Amino acid sequence: SLADTDWIGLLEKARSLRENPNPGELRFDGRVALVTGAGNGIGRIYALLLAKLGASVVVNDLGGSHTGVGGAHAAADKVVDEIRAAGGKAVANYDSVEDGDKLVDTAIKAFGRIDIVVNNAGILRDKSFARMTDADWDLVHRVHVRGTYKVTKAAWPHMLKQKYGRIINTASAVGLYGNFGQANYSAAKAAMVAFSNTLALEGRKSNIIANTIAPNAGTRMTATVMPPEMVEALKPDYVAPLVAFLGHESCKETGSIFEVGSGWIAKVRWQRTGGVGFPINRPLLPEHIASRWAEITNFNDGRATHPISTQDSFAAVQANFDNKDTGA
Ligand code: NAD
Repeated sequence: SLADTDWIGLLEKARSLRENPNPGELRFDGRVALVTGAGNGIGRIYALLLAKLGASVVVNDLGGSHTGVGGAHAAADKVVDEIRAAGGKAVANYDSVEDGDKLVDTAIKAFGRIDIVVNNAGILRDKSFARMTDADWDLVHRVHVRGTYKVTKAAWPHMLKQKYGRIINTASAVGLYGNFGQANYSAAKAAMVAFSNTLALEGRKSNIIANTIAPNAGTRMTATVMPPEMVEALKPDYVAPLVAFLGHESCKETGSIFEVGSGWIAKVRWQRTGGVGFPINRPLLPEHIASRWAEITNFNDGRATHPISTQDSFAAVQANFDNKDTGA
């Protein structure tokens, strides 16, 4: 009957639904996120999503071209305006990621803390290796490797102190597999993987997690090489939710690599063959290796493993310490 109805309970429910219309939604209220290169492309969508979910966001962007030329405030300002117009909290920062401490300063000055760092800023200087100059190499490494390092280095002491941090670094499939014309970029992107994995180890005790993503997205960076249907199918909106998940307090995943794009997400790991241990009490000659090459490179003999740490990796090397040939 009406008299038995728990009106107060129902009102409570209605109120909480109004405040959070999507129960179970991963919220970021009270959290501060810094997204580098957030004036365009994938980074812009990260910033919009994190702000929509309640985070205060530092929208960093130098505002240059996709080859790293020039700079302008408009790129970051536009995204900040978009976030504010939707009722979110954001401030702009226009420094290069190479001045990482300035980006983190902006977060601390505006919002008093830094919880999430998404290292996303990036440029390309594609050229065949024969034609690549030192400048092409250095510029790409400065933005991706040194930039990611400098931003993270500045955020790290805050994260250690508050015993909380979420770091997402941006690699690329070409950093895992290589690509014609991208010796500089692919090497820089591979560095992201090892950097994240080491931070994952050093951050574990302090509830700092670090992961790497290899995104695929239709942006100005890829629009020049993709037909329009493909740009549409690869909307950054399909990448951003993974970054939000990896940036959330409920996420415990760390030291992992994810390939993501077009709404498809998968984790990547190393695989190693069972290997061949040669006796160490007699000389190891190149021809010994040649004669066992098929075994050394065989992933399908049931002995392949997936090492997940340097210790894990070393165990097989160490196991060969006692491999002595006692045969006649
Ligand atoms: P984008 O060019 O659309 O956006 C990158 C943004 O970074 C730009 O707004 C640019 O101004 C900014 N930026 C460049 N140098 C900067 C610096 N020194 N300091 C601050 N900001 C700087 O590119 P995108 O496609 O959105 O790429 C985002 C990230 O994802 C990059 O790291 C890129 O290498 C990586 N990635 C993209 C794809 C893809 O398919 N789009 C694939 C693999 C990896």
